Amino acid sequence: MKHLKDNYNFSVKLRCAVCGYDDCFESNDDKSYIKCTNCGKEYFGGQDELIEFNNELIQESIEQKKEEITSDVHKELNDIIKNAFSGNKYIKIK
Ligand SMILES: [Zn+2]
Repeated sequence: MKHLKDNYNFSVKLRCAVCGYDDCFESNDDKSYIKCTNCGKEYFGGQDELIEFNNELIQESIEQKKEEITSDVHKELNDIIKNAFSGNKYIKIK
């Protein structure tokens, strides 16, 4: 496997619904409460609430990732097919 990666992990940085900053969050241990330290917005629904606000962003990232994986699969497939028909091993004389 030359083109496919072992894993396609990716992360989406959640953004504040009010100010759009993605690196100013303060949260409690179980992330049931999050506060944006930049604008002071408090998310009493915690991470779930923040994810809901970022749903579009998350969907977009998933779509991008899907495209990347699909493109890699195609490349891999092309190689396999090329290898399968390389040379003339598949032509046999009875
Ligand atoms: Zn904010």
